[in-house]
Amino acid sequence: MRVRRLLSFAILLLPCTALTEQKITLSSPPPAHQVNSTNLSSSSSTIGRELEFIVHAFGGDDLQAYFGFVPEIVITDDALPNAFAKAPNRIEVSEGLVQVTQSAHELAFVVAHELAHHMLEHSVAYPAFADAPLPQPTAMMTWEHAADGVALKLLQGGGFDPYTAPELLDRLANHYQRILPASATPRHLRARAAHVLSVLANR
Ligand SMILES: [Zn+2]
Repeated sequence: MRVRRLLSFAILLLPCTALTEQKITLSSPPPAHQVNSTNLSSSSSTIGRELEFIVHAFGGDDLQAYFGFVPEIVITDDALPNAFAKAPNRIEVSEGLVQVTQSAHELAFVVAHELAHHMLEHSVAYPAFADAPLPQPTAMMTWEHAADGVALKLLQGGGFDPYTAPELLDRLANHYQRILPASATPRHLRARAAHVLSVLANR
């Protein structure tokens, strides 16, 4: 059984089956768009456009110049809410996580957090995300908090509401508590939500 290391929203080990995926095309310059602050449509083409807009809202027209890489973003056909940053430039967001998000602001936080893992070179330190042993939990949470800190700056710079981030993290914690009550994931997600709130309160 293949075991995948989950760096971002889920901090647990999970059996992983082969998944289909939708790759998001990032055009340059990006299309004109407004932040969708209400409900996200569940149609994959709409989500794709939202993701494209979000990445360009963070990085401008020249993603390579801003990030040092052009993100490759895919939505995986996985019902469990999760997202990954995989070296060198790949971001995977599960369909399950898209379903839990309630606005483009929240989806933007998901993308910002994974971009932050790349920007902080966490994905370089642990390039073999699949089949890799988990780092120490303390180090993991240090990375998660650091990525959330960078994500909040990306959200602010991109015109998104950072206060939706702790709301999403708490909702995800509740979701995980329902479906995986024995896992440590809800506690980790709530610790992240508290950390994000403290960063927002002290800036
Ligand atoms: Zn993370």
